Amino acid sequence: MDHTTVLESLGFTNAELSGGTLPVVSPIDGTTVANIHQTAVADMPAIIARSQDAFKAWKTVPAPRRGELVRLLGEELRAAKDALGALVTLEAGKITSEGLGEVQEMIDICDFAVGQSRQLYGLTIASERPGHRMSETWHPMGPCGVISAFNFPVAVWSWNAALALVAGDPVIWKPSEKSPLTAMASMKILQRALDRFGDDAPDGLCQLVIGKADIGEALVASKDVPILSATGSTRMGSIVGPKVAARWGRAILELGGNNAMIVAPSADLEMAVRGIVFSAVGTAGQRCTSLRRLIVHKSIKADLMERLKAAYASLPVGDPRADGTLIGPLIDQGALKAMQSALDRARAEGGTVHGGAPVTDGVPAGAYVTPALVEMPGQTETVKTETFVPILYVMEYDTLDEAIHLQNDVPQGLSSCIFTLNLREAETFLSTTGSDCGIANVNIGPSGAEIGGAFGGEKETGGGRESGSDAWKGYMRRQTSTVNYSADLPLAQGVSFDI
Ligand code: NAD
Repeated sequence: MDHTTVLESLGFTNAELSGGTLPVVSPIDGTTVANIHQTAVADMPAIIARSQDAFKAWKTVPAPRRGELVRLLGEELRAAKDALGALVTLEAGKITSEGLGEVQEMIDICDFAVGQSRQLYGLTIASERPGHRMSETWHPMGPCGVISAFNFPVAVWSWNAALALVAGDPVIWKPSEKSPLTAMASMKILQRALDRFGDDAPDGLCQLVIGKADIGEALVASKDVPILSATGSTRMGSIVGPKVAARWGRAILELGGNNAMIVAPSADLEMAVRGIVFSAVGTAGQRCTSLRRLIVHKSIKADLMERLKAAYASLPVGDPRADGTLIGPLIDQGALKAMQSALDRARAEGGTVHGGAPVTDGVPAGAYVTPALVEMPGQTETVKTETFVPILYVMEYDTLDEAIHLQNDVPQGLSSCIFTLNLREAETFLSTTGSDCGIANVNIGPSGAEIGGAFGGEKETGGGRESGSDAWKGYMRRQTSTVNYSADLPLAQGVSFDI
């Protein structure tokens, strides 16, 4: 589909797409597909006040009924999957199946959250005092600000919004300035669900604000936004995290990764090669969980490198809409420059670079590259830095201890994996002496997580968790209650205080 057809199929009007000050550039061919209107910073207090008003009403709607709205959203997303997936391709440059996969992830989290809406379980706790009952209850927390990155332009909002809505929290979303159209389309889809849902949903339940860091900062600074979920670079998180903490807000930070795979001597190399290639070059290396470091046992390194070089040589780079393309464009020319300078630094640090050149023949006018494999003599500063492009640094190891040390010896802690058929190695990697990441896999790459597990990472990745498992607790406040149904007033710990 061409750009105009995609936008028309999602119901965009000319007024929405033109006359604004924020140009939207498609990474596919560098064309400006829209100039959209930005939110004024001066309007942010009123937007946040609207969200606070919505909270007063929404928190009193029973959670299973709140789940019904999310169920309807899932239905509308199913109906709009092809069109929204195509817009993800247009705006983020993902190949068609990954664009559709991103929308499927939205549908999956809606399904998950609907079930969750009937399972916001608290606890009953044994009291030490006779005639007393203790319990723990979860309550809605308040407006949730969502700041998202360009590379998962819609899924990250849905991870947050689906859970926040069933938890009883309104949402204010500031998408990346590089991907506002997918956000606008998602709000149109949500509006269809709201129309079907009826009057229980207050005005201002879900709002979209468009702009750059200054708009995000207004959410970050406001005490009336008690939850601030921010997804993006570690640089951004290092600014946002302390500001939210200073006003006693709750930050959910999902920041940069520098994900590794250990390939042990017993590994099924054919499977490992498939796992490596998908996770290192899929989405043109622009996933937070992309594989960036390969730690290979020295006995199999030569063999694995030959297989990888052969696999890399056959990877189709090009227009992400074309059948057969596996590597689409980088987000912009800035990413291409960052890639070339990382490769220059790696060479200066003793690395041998295979691939990594810009591609201009037979592709549209975007920033296309061949993915790079870089053999490194050790884990240098460049290897320890996340460069958000398809560069895979390869290092060798001798003992598993050494491999685990290399895996952990980076500032980031998002995703990790080991390929091995050795049970001791696999279990050691998953144990307390193994990977220090939020995600640790065996015989599967570091990217492409399912919605059921809690998603997030440690260290400079920020420590936040979203999506499945008990991530819903991040959107609610916990209340511990003790009820005394006896005729006495005994004090805890046997304290006596007679008056
Ligand atoms: P980015 O940090 O440049 O921007 C992310 C968002 O933060 C944008 O909406 C941006 O406008 C906003 N922002 C920037 N500075 C801000 C500030 N001072 N105050 C408030 N908001 C601010 O990131 P990007 O280039 O869009 O995305 C790529 C990065 O995101 C990579 O580092 C990647 O690893 C990370 N990422 C992490 C996850 C995760 O779940 N851990 C998921 C996706 C992307």
